[in-house]
Amino acid sequence: MGFGMTIVPQPQAGLDQEQFLTILSREEAVRRFEAALFPRAVPSEVRRLAEALGCVLAEDVAAPIDVPPFDRSNVDGFAVRSADLAAAGEASPVRLVLNGEIIACGIAPTQQVAPCTATTIATGGPLPRGADAVVMVEHTQPAGPRAIEVRRAASPGQFVSHAGSDIARGEALLRAGTVVGSREIGMLAACGVAEVKVARKPRVAVVSTGDELVQPGHPLPPAAIYDTNGAIVVAAIDENGGEATFFGAIPDDETRLEAAMRTALAQADMLVLSGGTSKGAGDLSHRIIGRLGKPGIVAHGVALKPGKPLCLAVCDGKPVVILPGFPTSAMFTFHDMIVPVLRRMAGLPLRSDAKVSAKVPVRIASELGRTEFVMVSLVEGRDGLIAYPSGKGSGAITSFAQADGFLRIDALADQLPAGAETEVTLFTPHVRVPDLVIIGSHCTGLDLVTAPLSRAGLSVRSIAVGSLGGLAAARRGECDLAPIHLFDDRSETYNTPFLAEGLELVPGWRRMQGIVFRKGDTRFEGASAREAVAAALVDPACIMVNRNQGAGTRILIDRLLGGARPEGYWNQPRSHNAVAAAVAQHRADWGMTIAPVAHAAGLGFIPLAEEHYDFALVTARRQRPAVQAFLEALGSDESRAALARAGFRPA
Ligand code: AMP
Ligand code: MG
Repeated sequence: MGFGMTIVPQPQAGLDQEQFLTILSREEAVRRFEAALFPRAVPSEVRRLAEALGCVLAEDVAAPIDVPPFDRSNVDGFAVRSADLAAAGEASPVRLVLNGEIIACGIAPTQQVAPCTATTIATGGPLPRGADAVVMVEHTQPAGPRAIEVRRAASPGQFVSHAGSDIARGEALLRAGTVVGSREIGMLAACGVAEVKVARKPRVAVVSTGDELVQPGHPLPPAAIYDTNGAIVVAAIDENGGEATFFGAIPDDETRLEAAMRTALAQADMLVLSGGTSKGAGDLSHRIIGRLGKPGIVAHGVALKPGKPLCLAVCDGKPVVILPGFPTSAMFTFHDMIVPVLRRMAGLPLRSDAKVSAKVPVRIASELGRTEFVMVSLVEGRDGLIAYPSGKGSGAITSFAQADGFLRIDALADQLPAGAETEVTLFTPHVRVPDLVIIGSHCTGLDLVTAPLSRAGLSVRSIAVGSLGGLAAARRGECDLAPIHLFDDRSETYNTPFLAEGLELVPGWRRMQGIVFRKGDTRFEGASAREAVAAALVDPACIMVNRNQGAGTRILIDRLLGGARPEGYWNQPRSHNAVAAAVAQHRADWGMTIAPVAHAAGLGFIPLAEEHYDFALVTARRQRPAVQAFLEALGSDESRAALARAGFRPA
């Protein structure tokens, strides 16, 4: 099998699985990929102006004409000979006789402006022979039916734009390599240029692979998942100067996949696949690449996290890439290693706006020996941008929506210390600094309160880091509000004892906590919380689900248990929703969660005690318009009603 120079397949007894024998560093993988691809000519094509938006000019464009093409009046008034007005003043008005014609826009003058005459001219009109200046109509007075009086002098050239003063014929109008935007199109149109030679956008074929993939819009059978990579890769290619064609999701069938890859590659300049690159039994694409052209695979297995199974190949001059299957891994590797190649093929400069500098607020641990990608959300700190890791694991797609980009931790570093300055590669062309930043504990009720803000055009970013993480962010001035629900054991009160200087408490809402169980479970149905736990403890087959240390709910559970450690005690998820899911899916029989979550999951619920979900407000930020809008929304009838409907009790 053609694994090129880097991979030697290692047969294993009884295992149809090959190992990544040669893992390349990120830098070495990029070097080999680029060495096999460049230098190469960027093909060009002629496009009409209307179709050139976003294209890269393939050659310099020189102005074919002078702009403006003639000496042009900038005002409504009269074309004059400035020498006639040299002696004009308040006390010595000069009388000029009007010539018969009126020069409107688009009217070529026919009469000469002789001494002591003037011609009526409109803004944009060409200056007639003999005239060298224009006086504004406001600075003149009629003097009988066919004459005017002027009471101030005019300098030569006054209110005139001379031919070629904007752009002179032959002058370089635009340089090769310029990305054509609306302003460039304007310049070209002003010179009468209808077509330009631009770099032909690389045609990129996109193929998803996997038996489990279903296209969005179709029903999802059990064990299937929606094809995420197809849509996201197509969009990311178009965002970076390519022209993507999607060939669908192909099942893991060698014959069909090879046929699809050959068809796609024949029509394209580049082929991007995703999935099927880990060297598992069903993973076929990399085997097929060896048959598609020379030199074939140049890197398969790169020291990246996530993204290790990335496969880079060149087949008869065309790049062929297999991105890892997990969408986030696919995106990191695509943006970090494929986008630069794509842009170079498109004749585009490397995107300088794609990177910003930011500080990390917390220490981020990293595996030694692998270049690690960490997705981050950007917020504005006291001095510059702060990059919050949106740590949800490489399989989490929602981290994308929150994330602005990612940072890279060097293979030789085992961590990025808190406060370190780092470079963030943006997913979108520009940083979107949100109007309102909420960092802390997440609650589904939060969306109900911020909804009117979003409708009013304010952008809200909420980052879930737990109550304590939120308080730390608030103390560092990285957010406006930190939602918290912290129970103080000693004072038996919520939240207030945890406020630091500079923070004030804004009451939020109350969330009823209680025992959650599957409806119809006779051990719990109709019981009080105390009775329910007693019933659970006497049944050895009963399994509980706990909460993490530090959660307010955990304190309640431990009190109810009174030192008992029943089966399931060590299962300690970090969220109310995970508890409900464990019970709903029969992995546990009871646990403690909040009422809205239990009800949403269709579970039975025994109320016990209210949890206070409040906001630590950074006092220094109270007057910001977005904060005011939030406070207003929080107190509004609309959101109080919405909270109540969802099972919360507004404070
Ligand atoms: P694979 O590399 O094919 O084993 O895929 C690794 C993981 O990524 C599996 O959980 C796949 O279901 C998932 N995956 C592969 N391709 C896609 C895709 N196009 N969209 C979403 N998930 C995918
Ligand atoms: Mg697969």
